Amino acid sequence: MNPGTTFGCSGPSTRSVVRVDALEEFSRSNLMMPSAGDPRGSSGFGFDRFHEEMRIPMRALMEPADPPSYPLKNSIDIFPWDDNFKTGLPQIDDQHRVLVSLLNKLASHVAFRSETLSLEEVFDALTDYTIYHFKSEEAIWADVFADDHSMAEHLAVHEHFIQTLNTLKVARKNAPFDQVAHDALDFLTRWLASHILEKDRFMAYTVLAMQGGLPLEEAKARAHHQMEGVTRNLIDIILSLYSVLSSNTLHLMRKLDEHQKMEEAYREQRRRMEHLARFDALTGLPNRVLLTEKVQKIMDQAGPHFLAIVNMGLDGFKVINDTYGHEMGDHVLITMAERIQGIVRGRDIVSRPGGDEFIVVLRDIRELDACIPWLASLLAASRKTIPIDAGRTLNLSASLGVSFYPQNEGITPDQLFRQADQALYQAKQAGKNCYHVFDMAHDHEVRDRLENLEHIRRGLERREFVLHYQPKVNLRTGAILGLEALIRWQHPHRGLLLPDQFLPLIENHPLALSLGDWVLDMALNQIEDWMTQGLPLAVSVNVCGQQLQTPGFTQQLRDALAQRRKGLARFLELEVLETSALEDISQVTKVIHDCIRLGIQFSIDDFGTGYSSLSYLKRLPVHTLKIDQSFVRGMLEDPEDLAILVGVLGLAEAFQRKVIAEGVETLDHGEMLLDLGCEGAQGYAIARPMPVDKIAPWAATWQVPNSWAFRPVRRKGDLSSFMHEASQRASKKTKSKR
Ligand code: C2E
Ligand code: CA
Ligand code: CA
Repeated sequence: MNPGTTFGCSGPSTRSVVRVDALEEFSRSNLMMPSAGDPRGSSGFGFDRFHEEMRIPMRALMEPADPPSYPLKNSIDIFPWDDNFKTGLPQIDDQHRVLVSLLNKLASHVAFRSETLSLEEVFDALTDYTIYHFKSEEAIWADVFADDHSMAEHLAVHEHFIQTLNTLKVARKNAPFDQVAHDALDFLTRWLASHILEKDRFMAYTVLAMQGGLPLEEAKARAHHQMEGVTRNLIDIILSLYSVLSSNTLHLMRKLDEHQKMEEAYREQRRRMEHLARFDALTGLPNRVLLTEKVQKIMDQAGPHFLAIVNMGLDGFKVINDTYGHEMGDHVLITMAERIQGIVRGRDIVSRPGGDEFIVVLRDIRELDACIPWLASLLAASRKTIPIDAGRTLNLSASLGVSFYPQNEGITPDQLFRQADQALYQAKQAGKNCYHVFDMAHDHEVRDRLENLEHIRRGLERREFVLHYQPKVNLRTGAILGLEALIRWQHPHRGLLLPDQFLPLIENHPLALSLGDWVLDMALNQIEDWMTQGLPLAVSVNVCGQQLQTPGFTQQLRDALAQRRKGLARFLELEVLETSALEDISQVTKVIHDCIRLGIQFSIDDFGTGYSSLSYLKRLPVHTLKIDQSFVRGMLEDPEDLAILVGVLGLAEAFQRKVIAEGVETLDHGEMLLDLGCEGAQGYAIARPMPVDKIAPWAATWQVPNSWAFRPVRRKGDLSSFMHEASQRASKKTKSKR
């Protein structure tokens, strides 16, 4: 039959006249119904009234499912149309085709659990169309079969079908969706197959035979004959195959659908995670990761780019969080984020790296001057009160740290942020509610310090430090009073370094303690060595205040002594700087007392530089005062130095402390000290600090100079006239120098 031809049949209803081309178009267009205003609605479809009656459920049923994210999701044909289903009556075939389409549609909806359509609606649509089909079919059959018994049978079959659908619909109310859907599909598949393959086909063959001129009975006989090849058994086999196929297909489709939904959920989750990884969840602003990417991108682009990186920290945010709770904290952060965004220009970047900080990147800013007004408005915006409930308000401020790009050296976004962060810290230190621009020179200092610390730590690890020893003697007798251990760094590249080249770098750093421990350990080993060699040499070790005040210092020393030769403690002396002794005099006094109980001696180093009062001196249980070398070196020329020296000597005598004068560089110094009644001394005129292997040879050859050995001893009463002479000599020297 050609497209566009009509199959006429008796009966008053226009809807029994179906134009095949229109119907095919209808099928092709995925069973989309024309809308009410659509011109196609009146294009001669035989379904017009039917559409109207069934508009709602049919439209819902026939509209494509959700926007197709997967090709498979559009539809499934569990009962694919086959040309073998054709009866030869195009009108009937076309309606069968629609029924089959509806069935497949139903299967799709069941498989994909359409959320926009209820099973009841699908049933209703199917029932309605089937009834319509029955009617148009019955009109054809009635023409031909009239009073024939097959007509009555056919009507009964139709009736039975409708009853069964009704039963299923009722069952739907009590049974689970899956169960009813499965039963319905099973029933419909079987019914449709047997209806199309057997009953209608028989009727159609009969109709066609009659149209060829045969009377009814003969036409039926011919139809029987034509049907012979299609036995009931064959139909059953096909049906059961369809049944298995349909339920398997459905099952698979279900699984596929679940899988797709899971995949979609997973994708969504991933999208969310990716968003979270690059955006701040609270404010929606780019986070540190995205900010870094953006800044890096700007840097990578050709052409000079001038950026100001502003790290903004809210002052007092923690208090708000603690007092009003985190929700209020969040509110404040969101408000601030909005305010900042209200101030920046289009190309600037606002981000929230976390906590109470925002980073703003201002573009095309060449220098500080250009961004000062902007910084001022940012500070002002942060100070604006934030209204909270019931007329209450919050008051905050912000501190800003600024760094600029480009810089003399290549720099990464992270380094820029770190600079801005350091500057922010400085702004906070400076009292908050202000901005601070990153200071490169200061940064270099800090970086150098860190580098130096690392080098020292490594030097210690690699045993690059050594102790040199400088003798302390009695100027008159030449007796060796002891040796001062002085640290040196045998640097692999820079040679032998003196303490002032590295000790200041570790002041107040834990490394100073490690180094101090090492010195003490080495000195103890050395004393033990000399004891073993029969050289009873006392060693004094410089101990910094930090080390002396470390909890457990005494115990550590006790343990160290316990591990070594007996009697070693009396050869150990600790030198404590006068300034450190005064830091916490009661604690230091206690430690000194405890150590003295171990048999250790103490001296106060650089005495005269720390302004210790007489009462302090009285309290400090030390054995020796080491007079600072500045006074000793200056006494020959400076009457004030001389006066201090004399004063210290007097104190030592009064408090019964021994004295060592440091910085004895010449014979003159020694002579003068002897004249002042000071015999203990240390200095280049006696010996320079030397490596340990030089000590024994030096001790073996050391001879006190004659001018010292034979210096007359002054009587007590002579001191004041001597002082007078000496200071006159000193001022003459000073004048002649001028
Ligand atoms: P200090 O304890 O006052 O040590 C004496 C310093 O004066 C030594 O310098 C020594 O070489 C120097 N000196 C000795 N005689 C003379 C002299 O006649 N003229 C001059 N101009 N200088 C003389 P050094 O070895 O460079 O040590 C400097 C400082 O470093 C020491 O001053 C001490 O405070 C500290 N130090 C040295 N070793 C250690 C140590 O192991 N631990 C600690 N905490 N500090 C140490
Ligand atoms: Ca010393
Ligand atoms: Ca000293």
